[in-house]
Amino acid sequence: MKRKFFMFCVLFSLTVGLKATTWFPSKHTCPICKHENEYQEIGSYGGYIYQWESKYQYVYWPLTDSPSVYCCPDCYFSAYMWDFDSIPVNKTDTIRAYLATIKRDEKYKTYLEIPMITRLEIAENIYKMLGRDTEFWCKFYRVMGYHYDEDKNAARARETRLNSLSLARQMLSDTLYSGQEKENFFIMAAMYNFTGQKDSAMVYLGKADAKEYRNKAWKEENLKGFNDYLKGLISQYKELLKKED
Ligand SMILES: [Zn+2]
Repeated sequence: MKRKFFMFCVLFSLTVGLKATTWFPSKHTCPICKHENEYQEIGSYGGYIYQWESKYQYVYWPLTDSPSVYCCPDCYFSAYMWDFDSIPVNKTDTIRAYLATIKRDEKYKTYLEIPMITRLEIAENIYKMLGRDTEFWCKFYRVMGYHYDEDKNAARARETRLNSLSLARQMLSDTLYSGQEKENFFIMAAMYNFTGQKDSAMVYLGKADAKEYRNKAWKEENLKGFNDYLKGLISQYKELLKKED
């Protein structure tokens, strides 16, 4: 009995404790059609997510994982999980009118059965109605690129990554984002790499490396941690590109 329990602990720590992220079910009411459905919420995760492969696209869990984009199986209202419950009331009529134009498939009983790409494409239109800033869209298109890639849709993956690249470039000349050049150069490098422009990727990794991330709203220790993380990631990326050559 004791041995069994010990083995259970070992297995548990190997599967859950070390590198696994977990989700748990929870009911949410759709802000548009008011139907209640089951969704998944984040249970556990750890700093290891920042070392997973998707870091080379500057996309991180939970956005790499299907449960993170909610979609009401009744009306198809879609949004990131953290926005689902906080849609401004004055936008609901516009959103409802848009959703009425979408073709729905009766066969989907839970949101996880609805393809991630379908959810993201609807969410893209929803966020256009809600209004979001350049940084949001730069990330949104990286996330779309990631999932189009998973879906083997190379053309759309390329298109959305080029969107993200151009938005990162736009942020460089926007004073709202001054101090974030290190991150934006890195994003550009990543998007260059994932659209087959390795030479430019290398140039922009160099530009990113030469900068220090600054943000007045952040504590010194967090700034240091983030700069150290990006520095490490840049050097890993350079190694990776050199190896591929
Ligand atoms: Zn709904």
